[in-house]
Amino acid sequence: MAWLVVSVSLIVIWVASLCKIFFGATSSSRATILDDGKNPQKKNVMFVIAHPDDESMFFSPTINYLTSNVYNLHILCLSTGNADGMGNIRKNELHQACAVLKVPLQQLKVLDHPNLQDGFGQVWNHDLLTEIIEEEVTKHDIHTIITFDNYGVSGHCNHRDVHRGVLTFLLTNSGRHIKAWELVSLNIFRKYCGPVDIWLSILSAKKHPSNVIIINEQPWKSFKAMAQHLSQWVWFRKLFVSFSSYTYTNTLNRIIP
Ligand SMILES: [Zn+2]
Repeated sequence: MAWLVVSVSLIVIWVASLCKIFFGATSSSRATILDDGKNPQKKNVMFVIAHPDDESMFFSPTINYLTSNVYNLHILCLSTGNADGMGNIRKNELHQACAVLKVPLQQLKVLDHPNLQDGFGQVWNHDLLTEIIEEEVTKHDIHTIITFDNYGVSGHCNHRDVHRGVLTFLLTNSGRHIKAWELVSLNIFRKYCGPVDIWLSILSAKKHPSNVIIINEQPWKSFKAMAQHLSQWVWFRKLFVSFSSYTYTNTLNRIIP
């Protein structure tokens, strides 16, 4: 009997959370990010990621939010994700995911640098990352960068190096006043509680008022974007995308170097 009560309660919470997404989503980000957005020259935002699929698996709530508020999005992907020798395929899949996420292809850059290869044993040099980020920021007049935090959601060393590369860039370019935000890594319970994490995000935002909560009003679009990464679209990733709270909400924290 107890298990029935628990199961029904879980279903009710899950459905209520989905209703919150579809009928009552309010992202606390509006004031914080849009204050710059009123200035048309400050709408150039660049996502700095490590591998093709990071954008769909982790950052899609923020990407959806910014594209629907007519921000000008760029994606800098620092590797082709060639750990299994499928770099070229994965690069094409990222092109298709960007089409779903409405990021123009000419604003996507995927690097295939010999010193920035996908893999757990690969250490990415922070000065090299800084140099690349600096070049892209200048070229596209970027005002805001969004990237991983120090843990990098999954703890992948490439994600963590990307964070440190952005941090080094900010430290060496402090005079340029580039804003940067990191995607907050969640604990294992929150990571897999799907849309239910919306409530926990809202609660935790009360404790950390400077954090920005972005609720994904189009989670199906995230699912469709991830499905473009066909080489990665295996059963456990389908489960991940369905149950991961990163499909439904993003918590961003301002990086103050
Ligand atoms: Zn990754």
